[in-house]
Amino acid sequence: MSRRVLWVVIPLLAALHTVPAGAQALPAAASARELKVILLGTAGGPTINPQRFGISTLIVAGSERLLFDAGRSSLTALARLDINPADVTKVFLTHLHSDHVFALPELYLAPWASQGRQVPLQVWGPQGTQSMMKHLQAAFAFDIHVRRDLDEKFPANGIKVVAHDIREGVVYDANGVTVTAFLVDHGQVKPAFGYRIDYQGRSLIISGDTKPSENLIKHSQGVDLLIHELGRWKDDPLMSGAPDELLPNSRQTRGQVRTIAAHHTDGAEAGRVFERVKPKLALFSHYNVAPAATLPLVRQSYSGPVEFGEDLMTIDIGEDVIVHRFVAAAR
Ligand SMILES: [Zn+2]
Ligand SMILES: [Zn+2]
Repeated sequence: MSRRVLWVVIPLLAALHTVPAGAQALPAAASARELKVILLGTAGGPTINPQRFGISTLIVAGSERLLFDAGRSSLTALARLDINPADVTKVFLTHLHSDHVFALPELYLAPWASQGRQVPLQVWGPQGTQSMMKHLQAAFAFDIHVRRDLDEKFPANGIKVVAHDIREGVVYDANGVTVTAFLVDHGQVKPAFGYRIDYQGRSLIISGDTKPSENLIKHSQGVDLLIHELGRWKDDPLMSGAPDELLPNSRQTRGQVRTIAAHHTDGAEAGRVFERVKPKLALFSHYNVAPAATLPLVRQSYSGPVEFGEDLMTIDIGEDVIVHRFVAAAR
């Protein structure tokens, strides 16, 4: 199994710099049968982290570019990869926690006003998505009116929104790509979804935010890549104590931290999920814990390939699953 996972470091930006200066292009899939996964951001939660971008994952499959969640700085990540955000017009939200949607206003407005987007932004997400997008349009009505009707006269179609409140099941099926939403368990945040993406016999799972979920395991059977969230270790001795006391080095109380941890999956739990799914590669995204401290928890029950996602990392799913760490080109 481990021989199926290759780990390659290439200077991604250097490769993309064959594009003429000023032009922008999406990275093409290496072959028509390959799924490409680009981790735009891998940090979880609303904490502002100066080193890492918020949770957001771009899938490239043939002619399709599908964005899953739009965490903080998603557009900065796209820009660092020379990907035109005007080409990213289909967004799937796992749930409506702010850390998964912080970049939606930027993605809605900026590509239309600066990058030539001429088609509506389409958004799929849990109940409340249509309402959020309606209010987002109202919040920016002034800017939209000026740029569309009075000043630059940007095309009206490019600032429209088509929003879908989804249920469990296939939510998108076009150009050979199928996106299936399934319910996960994110505590009080209901509904919360994970997604399965299938293309040309390749497949991956994006867990969304969830504690260990039997429904996720059910939908993950046979997948090449399982991208799973990761939370704080629930048995961490630091977490035991008076609930009203601040956790050391934190602005949150133990009670608050325990509540947050309870609706996520810790390393030991993730290992048990991976062992049952047996993906070609298990990969963590949406995490703030230290990989070195977490890996032994995962290894209690899972000995297969596992990777801690990094911002701007790319994973090619073809005959093999190949991980490319981002290396900035010398400028
Ligand atoms: Zn989150
Ligand atoms: Zn959440």
